[in-house]
Amino acid sequence: MIQQPVIELRDVWVTYDDIPALEGVDLRVMPYDFLGIIGPNGGGKSTLLKVILGLVTAGSGVVTVLGTRPESSRRSVGYVAQRPAFSPDFPASVWDVALMGRCGKRGLVRRYNADDWAAAEAALRRVGMLHLRGNQIGSLSGGEQQRVFIARALAGEPRILLLDEPLASIDLAMQADFYELLRDLRRTLTIVMVSHDIGAVSVHVDTIACLNRRLFHHGSKELTPEVLEATYECPVQLITHGPVPHRVLKEH
Ligand code: ADP
Ligand code: MG
Repeated sequence: MIQQPVIELRDVWVTYDDIPALEGVDLRVMPYDFLGIIGPNGGGKSTLLKVILGLVTAGSGVVTVLGTRPESSRRSVGYVAQRPAFSPDFPASVWDVALMGRCGKRGLVRRYNADDWAAAEAALRRVGMLHLRGNQIGSLSGGEQQRVFIARALAGEPRILLLDEPLASIDLAMQADFYELLRDLRRTLTIVMVSHDIGAVSVHVDTIACLNRRLFHHGSKELTPEVLEATYECPVQLITHGPVPHRVLKEH
């Protein structure tokens, strides 16, 4: 049987007030792929995720997610936004936040039922945060909060997980733990993770896309200096380190 891509973009263009954010992007993500998208700030990474979610509509081109339009597949796509959806002072417990992930399934006015509680509990257990369910979200560390936001996405029982700069709020010591979690999640999900830190990403993902309005690369993790310079629009230094010997250092 030929596998169909779970996400497919064909010649996708997006502009904000006549300023292009994505130019002719073609992308195919296969089931259970773990794709890292790298590129400079303003390169369109968050926009690309929003196109996949149907939150931003492409000016032209075709977007297919799980075989249908993004607006129709959104309930099967988990999303952890670049910045938390609310301030850390927001009075919600870890449990409340995980349950919010069920809103897409239930609608805002329906009461939660046993299915919702079971899904929220399973999601918190999976990210290792069930023991903190009674704590206020604002009292957790950045890394713990990030896990709870992932649990909220998982509570909706998605088939695809989109993570926008998930490492930004996690200190270096906790990043290894975080990658451990991703290794577990990828057994059952297709993951697309956006980051401007290629060094951190490249070790863990299967495939990489380099995005700066246009896609300069989409495929293997072995990136050439030419691809990186095209993406980052400035000289890029590669440092040998670890099993995947590439790290970007911008020299302006
Ligand atoms: P990245 O996530 O790679 O930093 P973004 O997708 O956030 O890039 O932004 C790409 C470009 O589009 C940037 O120039 C940004 O200023 C612009 N942009 C993003 N969102 C909006 C918006 N809602 N309205 C207008 N311009 C936007
Ligand atoms: Mg962004």
